[in-house]
Amino acid sequence: MRALVQRLRTDFQLTIITSFGGAALFGILPFAVYRFVSGNAVAGTLDLAIVISILAAVAHAWRNEDRRAASLFVAIVNTVGCLASATVLGPPGLYWMYPALLGNFLLLSRNVAVLVTAIAMLILTVQHRAYDSNMQLAMFLATAAVSGMVAFVFAYRTETQREQLELLATLDPLTGMQNRRAMERELQLAVEISKRDGSAFGLAMLDLDHFKRINDHYGHEAGDEVLVRFAGLIRDCTRKADRCFRFGGEEFVLLMPGTDAQALLAIDRHVRVRIADRLRCDDGPVTVSIGGAALRRGEDWQSWLARADAALYRSKSEGRNRTIVDEARWEPTA
Ligand code: GH3
Ligand code: MG
Ligand code: MG
Repeated sequence: MRALVQRLRTDFQLTIITSFGGAALFGILPFAVYRFVSGNAVAGTLDLAIVISILAAVAHAWRNEDRRAASLFVAIVNTVGCLASATVLGPPGLYWMYPALLGNFLLLSRNVAVLVTAIAMLILTVQHRAYDSNMQLAMFLATAAVSGMVAFVFAYRTETQREQLELLATLDPLTGMQNRRAMERELQLAVEISKRDGSAFGLAMLDLDHFKRINDHYGHEAGDEVLVRFAGLIRDCTRKADRCFRFGGEEFVLLMPGTDAQALLAIDRHVRVRIADRLRCDDGPVTVSIGGAALRRGEDWQSWLARADAALYRSKSEGRNRTIVDEARWEPTA
């Protein structure tokens, strides 16, 4: 039971589909029973078919990962069911159009929901059994259009908020750089691009030297300030296409498209010298050690990152404030 509740909590679309199942059971099934009891077998069968179809979609959504098919199916059942009830029951059937219309905006993407709703309205307009007079039709179309507009705005706002949240979830709040989660996605993407067209990618891991001492001597806030200034300097001395990430703590990662091992060595040296020249804490220099690796053909991102990390480890153990790039030709200046 706890596992079920957990799935509902973490899977928003599954919750929506399931709630339509609940609505079908408690909102439509009693009407189906009433129609049969009162002798209207056609309307009863129709209601029952709607309930069974929606419950089948709920079961499908719980059993499979594919929410899109189940959502689309429930939206179509809702809409077609409403059109059919308006045909069978006449004007009272129109009332079902409102929840179906709102449901479409929860189940489908905004534009598809607009399309499905517009088609349903058009069918109702030419379907004379659904209303008693043109005035009634006009009233229905106007109120349904207003409800649709409200649902559209609501869906738009929700989508924008979700995008903003997604962006926030990939940003480090202190430096404004992308975080480790975003980095993993970008490295994976770089590996895929390189597999496809053979393009070169360079990766650098940067770790501030003796950063703990800065915190110990000047306090955590001064340490934070150094991290923010470091991030600014990194942004200034890299190209637009390069991506910077905060890997964690005082460790950062640079992803550089179109960069082989030799170019990576030159860039990393430039970055290191720039940091040593410009980054200060209480007038004392702050330095960085860098380890780099260029992506090998067919390599996965984990082993690529591990090679950069191993090169960084060598930079540290060989004295810090230096650059080592795996597989780059040795040149005299560090
Ligand atoms: P090394 O040259 O070997 O890298 O030494 P180090 O002192 O930089 O490395 P160590 O891993 O021992 O310490 C890293 C320190 O970074 C410890 C931790 O308190 C500090 N740190 C991590 N994240 C933050 C942060 O967000 N703000 C501040 N001010 N300090 C941080
Ligand atoms: Mg570290
Ligand atoms: Mg460090």
